[in-house]
Amino acid sequence: MPMATSRRDYYEVLGVRRDASADEIKKAYRQLALKYHPDRNPGDPEAERRFKEAADAYEILSDATKRARYDRYGHAGVEGAGASHFRSAEDIMSAFTEIFGDSLFGSMFSQRRRGPRPGQDLLMKLEIDLEDAARGATRSIEVTRQEICGECSGTGARRGTAPVTCDYCRGLGEVVQSRGFLQLATTCPACGGEGKRVVDPCPRCRGTGRQPQVVTLQVDIPPGVDSGMWLQLRNQGEPGDPGAPRGNLRIQIQIRPHRFFERHGNDLYCQVPIGFAQAALGAEIEVPTLSGTEKVTIPRGTQSGEVIRLRGRGMPDVNGRGRGDELVEVIIETPRRLTPRQEELLRELAEIDHAEVSPRRKSFFEKLRDYFTEEPETSDRGGS
Ligand SMILES: [Zn+2]
Ligand SMILES: [Zn+2]
Repeated sequence: MPMATSRRDYYEVLGVRRDASADEIKKAYRQLALKYHPDRNPGDPEAERRFKEAADAYEILSDATKRARYDRYGHAGVEGAGASHFRSAEDIMSAFTEIFGDSLFGSMFSQRRRGPRPGQDLLMKLEIDLEDAARGATRSIEVTRQEICGECSGTGARRGTAPVTCDYCRGLGEVVQSRGFLQLATTCPACGGEGKRVVDPCPRCRGTGRQPQVVTLQVDIPPGVDSGMWLQLRNQGEPGDPGAPRGNLRIQIQIRPHRFFERHGNDLYCQVPIGFAQAALGAEIEVPTLSGTEKVTIPRGTQSGEVIRLRGRGMPDVNGRGRGDELVEVIIETPRRLTPRQEELLRELAEIDHAEVSPRRKSFFEKLRDYFTEEPETSDRGGS
């Protein structure tokens, strides 16, 4: 008779078939881990056991080599050298976070301090003109952020006094609580993790050690930047804990609407109105570009809506990959008011026009006439 083993089969533990795919195994483990999570089953030793068991099973079955050994020799194959069973729920949770990349599981540890915390990021918006975005620019910006209080040098204690060691956590900044087999360290509620308490607060900063101040900073705007892009000034955000870096200052760029140009990626688009006679005869016109006006030849017979492409006259690529184009859409304007002389010429033109209709218009009017004179299709021709 075989010896009774305290270990269940790993496939059984996870509730998967022996030929389960890596994905199925991962999915099964995730479900079990969430189900038996100590946070959801406080003081339940059976859940605790299952939680660990699932983690052990997953550790072996998620590793192809260990799984093969387990398939061949059973538990004996993965004892000792190859196996490193989880010792604590914390191990399991941090492993879980690595595997699944989510914080659901590790949420209870998120408040735990691991060294001094860096400062928070500061977010702001910066509006610039399209020309600045095209050339790149340097801008001075004013930012209100926390600075160390000059009165107490950041201690938060009235000048001449000093903070005292917190007696609740004995200066450690965190307190350890036992919860089932879990040992949870949380930020000390009495001192907020500082390990020290201010007895006599500094009157200027009311004990916080920080004061809001307006600072002026330079921002380099790279050529080609577009609306919605973020620029980052490292370590220019809010201050962190003593010994930790400041957060970053993150600036979102907003480009003001331009009088002529609309931006499509790195291309610039603009509409230029021309007269009917210019379009018919061809002309040289001036169009706006980012670097002043430029002469452009409109070919004879240009139609309204035709686009002329000016290569390399668009925005520079923000990653340095060349430049976009400028697209000039020609809009033919019909005059609303005519001088007597213009009217005379146009009437004369209309008469000739009537006699010599263009092939395109001719075919259009023929199609139109056919459309109205065609015999209507009768539906009873092939009917019942
Ligand atoms: Zn102060
Ligand atoms: Zn404390």
